[in-house]
Amino acid sequence: MHIRDFELDELPHAGKQSAWLDIGRRPDGDNWRLPLLTVIGAEDGPTLLVLAGVHGDEYEGIAAIPQVYSETEPQDLRGRLVMAPVCNMPAYEAAQRSSPIDGLNLARVFPGDIDGTITRQIAGWLCQKLLTRADFLIDLHTGGIAYELPTLIGYAHDDGELGQASLEAAAAFGAPVMWGHPLPLPSGRSISAATSMSIPSLYTEAPGGAGSDPDVVACFRDGVLNVMKHLDMLSGDLNRRQLTHHLVGDGNLDTVIDAPVDGFFQREVTLLENVKAGQRLGAIVDAAGVESAQVDADQDGVIIMLRGLPRVKAGDGIAHITRSFRPRSQD
Ligand SMILES: [Zn+2]
Repeated sequence: MHIRDFELDELPHAGKQSAWLDIGRRPDGDNWRLPLLTVIGAEDGPTLLVLAGVHGDEYEGIAAIPQVYSETEPQDLRGRLVMAPVCNMPAYEAAQRSSPIDGLNLARVFPGDIDGTITRQIAGWLCQKLLTRADFLIDLHTGGIAYELPTLIGYAHDDGELGQASLEAAAAFGAPVMWGHPLPLPSGRSISAATSMSIPSLYTEAPGGAGSDPDVVACFRDGVLNVMKHLDMLSGDLNRRQLTHHLVGDGNLDTVIDAPVDGFFQREVTLLENVKAGQRLGAIVDAAGVESAQVDADQDGVIIMLRGLPRVKAGDGIAHITRSFRPRSQD
């Protein structure tokens, strides 16, 4: 079935199904197809949309969604659980962050365009057919092959209704790190599209690398189930990880400390380390091991992202620093 003909509202009540939806034409003449896992509850309730594989090299969310699906039964569910485990299928097939077809980053083109190139089509259909029907969005990311972040839940940090819904759900998700982002969120993301539709949302990050860490998969699986309990879609106690850090920053990983030159990045700090502005974070060395540039902290704060893949080109993101959250009463 083409996704244009898919209607969430027409799925059978108290049912569970996995489907493949055609979304656009492949260069070989076949169709790009996205898997969609849905559980429609026996009772009415909210619609939760869960995405993964927006970046094609981020694996734990892709692994967690089928676990959530297998653990959720229609008779236990109030509302609708709608999950797309691999959103950017061209990038997933190529094991890379962005699409090899049009070169676009799916997390920069939301709300998309169903008449655009394949990446814009995917974003457009996800928005038109799924996000518009949702009451809450969770987008499961990790650092992918090139970047490392702590296992975290990201939320909209704002005093308004949407921010409060996002914050409370982030606390329920139960990741070791919470990272709040003041509105407006950087544009082009699924969560910024959701925010523009007044739909509260969360996203995750995790250390990444080329594998799929079972502990991160379990944290993501439990986190989605926890949010469903928080939204009263499921009954039961939350199964949360201990919170170690509550951080706040713009969360825009497009504006980070960049590699000044090509080379091999040697880090001298670790994730979640406290650093001071001007502190040396590491160095870029050449292939003979000779230092060609030093990389320094651009501000005081906490290391939230570090380059994991040592080989860098000038302009690649190396590190990002954010701040600890200080409740107003402590100011
Ligand atoms: Zn990502």
